[in-house]
Amino acid sequence: MPKQDRVIVFDTTLRDGEQSPGASLNIDEKKAAARQLAELGVDVIEAGFPVSSPGDFEAVKSIAKDVRGPEICGLARAVKGDIEACWNAVKHSKRPRIHTFIATSDLHIEQKLRMTRQQVLDRAVDSVRFAARLTDNVEFSAEDAVRSDFDYLCQVIESVIDAGARTVNIPDTVGYSIPSEWGDKIRRLVDRVPNIHKAVVSVHCHNDLGLGVANSLAAIQNGARQVECTVNGIGERAGNASLEEIVMALRTRKDLFHLTTGVNTKEIARASRLISKLTGIPVQPNKAVVGANAFAHSSGIHQDGVLKSRTTYEIMNPSDVGVEESALLLTARSGRNGVQNRLKHLGYSLTAPKLEALFAKFKLLADKKKYVFDDDLLTLLDEEGRDASAETYHLDYMSTTSGTGIVPTATVRLRKKDEVLQEASCGDGPVDAAYRAMAKITGLAPELKDYALHSVSSGTDAQGEVVVKVEAQGLVVSGKGTSTDIVEASAKAYLNALNKIVSSRAGGRPAVAKRGM
Ligand SMILES: [Zn+2]
Repeated sequence: MPKQDRVIVFDTTLRDGEQSPGASLNIDEKKAAARQLAELGVDVIEAGFPVSSPGDFEAVKSIAKDVRGPEICGLARAVKGDIEACWNAVKHSKRPRIHTFIATSDLHIEQKLRMTRQQVLDRAVDSVRFAARLTDNVEFSAEDAVRSDFDYLCQVIESVIDAGARTVNIPDTVGYSIPSEWGDKIRRLVDRVPNIHKAVVSVHCHNDLGLGVANSLAAIQNGARQVECTVNGIGERAGNASLEEIVMALRTRKDLFHLTTGVNTKEIARASRLISKLTGIPVQPNKAVVGANAFAHSSGIHQDGVLKSRTTYEIMNPSDVGVEESALLLTARSGRNGVQNRLKHLGYSLTAPKLEALFAKFKLLADKKKYVFDDDLLTLLDEEGRDASAETYHLDYMSTTSGTGIVPTATVRLRKKDEVLQEASCGDGPVDAAYRAMAKITGLAPELKDYALHSVSSGTDAQGEVVVKVEAQGLVVSGKGTSTDIVEASAKAYLNALNKIVSSRAGGRPAVAKRGM
């Protein structure tokens, strides 16, 4: 029997989890997942339902052969053929387990099984007895226990323990229970079943009302010492109780539960990513523990708090679950502290006036796009550096019109010291029209040698960075411009190049070596 202060983590990602619509895995994928689950330190891997298909049989068998550490378990209905198929697959493991089940609620007995309570009781006992002849590590599940008659449920549990079950699983198969009620039911079952001490009480909670984890924890507080769960909480319908949430709740609130698991929590993030990738089921950003935002702070107040003391807004250390670090997402709500901290992280420390100037640009950009990523910050820094290089012309205003059947036109206003210069032009497209308007203003019309556009960061609101190469009387210079609006980025790049021509003519350091001398 396990130590009373230890909870057994039974992972059914490869059985119940794989029953999620569209999540079926091939043998190699299942093996890769099983290896990661072993790294994660789960106690039992329910690798599949061997009788259900030759593929699943082979998958369970090969995991049993190759994956060391956890017990390898297969599922079987309370049917001789299922149990034999299950044993033939798991027997290759050093630590095999047979998990057999039958429903015990009147609803399932009458509507689904078309049997009587007595027939179900007999079938449960016979199956466990049969399995126990193959291995002493037999688990029995009373499917739909949550809606089963309590007295009958206790009778079935007592009988299967006598028949050799070493683990008795009490499932909330349809996610119907409420934590207080479920905890009380587990407590009453532990108190009522006379031979319960010969077995480990387990729970298997579905998440149809979003209470899978809460019900699992309530059951643990009332005597359950095995919990069945899945990585990312995937599973039938709304899924199963999530492994990472249960494990981190026990760990974070050790003061309340005084219980441990064998899980190496630092492997949680890796396991979550792998299962998401293999099943194609994305993890929602606000998912507890493993969601992309689980350790992301976007409001300035929170960022300020976290920078001063992480525990002001974090109850878990991200590195404890294998997440590199808290993410201070830079958004329109971020403050100077957050921006300065990120710059430091990128290796930049700006003087107060420089930070002020950059922060103003940051706010403008942050109002335009959801997140300001590191690349965006570096681009702002780059632009800040460029601005500081005494550019002659500054883009003050630009509007363009273009579209099908419309003459592309641009109106551009540049500032040159206190002078405001404005021109309009039409062109082949909005960018060409803007370039022509700028040529009218500056009197410079270099030849466009190259034009390149790439996105600075990700997302539909990513900044585009344009790099142009122009040539004017043998002088070839490049210009760079960035904006969430690519026409504006194109104009800025061109203007940056024009400014380089102006400053090189003014005797500034030529951008590149002269050609054709
Ligand atoms: Zn289930």
